[in-house]
Amino acid sequence: MVSEFQCPCHGTMRIQGWKSRTFFHAGTNRDGYWTSKDMVKQLKDDAIPLFEKLHPGFPSFYFTTRIYLIFDQSSNHNAYAPSAKIESRFGLKDKILKSVDERVILPGKYMGLKEERIWKLKGLRTILEEHGLGRWEEFEAKKKHWKTNCGKEANFDHTCCPFHMLAAQPDFVAQKTALHEAVNKAGHLFALYPKYHCETNWIERYWGSAKRIARKECSYTYKALSDNLDGFLDQVSPPDSPPLEIRRYYNRCWRYIHAYNDMNSVTEAFKLVEKFTSRRYRSHHSVTSRSDHN
Ligand SMILES: [Zn+2]
Ligand SMILES: [Zn+2]
Repeated sequence: MVSEFQCPCHGTMRIQGWKSRTFFHAGTNRDGYWTSKDMVKQLKDDAIPLFEKLHPGFPSFYFTTRIYLIFDQSSNHNAYAPSAKIESRFGLKDKILKSVDERVILPGKYMGLKEERIWKLKGLRTILEEHGLGRWEEFEAKKKHWKTNCGKEANFDHTCCPFHMLAAQPDFVAQKTALHEAVNKAGHLFALYPKYHCETNWIERYWGSAKRIARKECSYTYKALSDNLDGFLDQVSPPDSPPLEIRRYYNRCWRYIHAYNDMNSVTEAFKLVEKFTSRRYRSHHSVTSRSDHN
């Protein structure tokens, strides 16, 4: 598995062997599994410091102090920290926690009853009642039970069930993913590429190009692939010359984004970008001597 950060001017960010590229041999008998924690580590230890070193004058020269970090859609990039406020992690009633691990990874959610030596994860009812919320009495008066999760879309004021009521609380609504929190904490901006629109994501083109090289040059063994993968990727984003291919991918993605901004349909956007990148259009472009950022 490869995890990498690129900028459009440098492609793969690197200084003397230090790269914004990480390899991971996934599997139980290898490096384990790439998690949100690994991603946050790469962001903090490699991507941000490399970006700052490679762009002299940052931040003042760029008129911004913030890096816009955009990530692929992936379950890791959408993972929440263990302490995150996620309504689905709570049951209706308080839950007794038996293992020490549970206590360590979920700070701030417990009521420790010292005399009983019992630790509990608060349930929906406790949390809501502590804040004076809930319709428990109203239902009990009717000899009815307020169902934990209505299983439908929330009603207009989120009073349909305890689950939706908790989900609508401002701190639950504002809960960000672990990666989003890490990027913001470092003072930068976070976004995910839109789902199902890899044409707007230049790193997909980079992976695609490296895969084409791998298919041609690889001997189809795991060892050969892991020995040569770094080199295949370097062929697309070379260490000793400007990353022209990467810049072309970057510009192509922006054409799609602009086309979507102007047009209504996907078909129209694709037609427009094709027209832009076709040879005929390009030569026409150079005749009028307008700058072409291709
Ligand atoms: Zn750069
Ligand atoms: Zn509901």
